[in-house]
Amino acid sequence: MQIVCLDLEGVLVPEIWIEFSKRTAIPELSRTTRDEPDYDKLMRGRIEILERNKLKLSDIQAVIAQMGPLPGAPEFVAWLRERFQVVILSDTFYEFAMPLMRQLGWPTLFCHRLEADASGRVVNYHLRMPDQKRASVAAFKAINFRTIAAGDSYNDTSMLKEADAGIFFRPPVNVIAKFPQFPVTRDYGELQAAILEASARIAEVAETP
Ligand SMILES: [Mg+2]
Repeated sequence: MQIVCLDLEGVLVPEIWIEFSKRTAIPELSRTTRDEPDYDKLMRGRIEILERNKLKLSDIQAVIAQMGPLPGAPEFVAWLRERFQVVILSDTFYEFAMPLMRQLGWPTLFCHRLEADASGRVVNYHLRMPDQKRASVAAFKAINFRTIAAGDSYNDTSMLKEADAGIFFRPPVNVIAKFPQFPVTRDYGELQAAILEASARIAEVAETP
């Protein structure tokens, strides 16, 4: 049995912070892991901007509730779950993701948590553990699963390397240039084909004595 590990934002749903930035007209909030590979620096900055603009968790959740998955994503997830075990590995937060997961049919999601105070101000964030995407793939390997991973950005590359097969989905050019070893896919049809190809390839490797 093989597990397919998918990134969430940029693969199945829009970039939550970019969408939020547009709707609140705060351009600084549109920075993502694509622009700033240091995740802690990125998050501290986001929390500071929210505070400065007096935006609470409920404001962010109201925006997210109106966002849908990317066109074709629910069908892609359904197709995938008929063929593989599917786990979504994301650096987003459960507090943000749940309205979107409903629209994707509640696939398994491993991500992080936000901390808000009694008034609903976001005061901190808690990573379940550092580099959880890579660690999750390594843990699946340790319990004898083969894994295929797909993602779009810097924060996916350690999981793509750890997996038996790694695939990019709509990555920015700077990420492609830095990690030329991973095949690039541009739509769900191409991603489906790349996953099936990888699946057959890693199954063959497994059978080689
Ligand atoms: Mg992403």
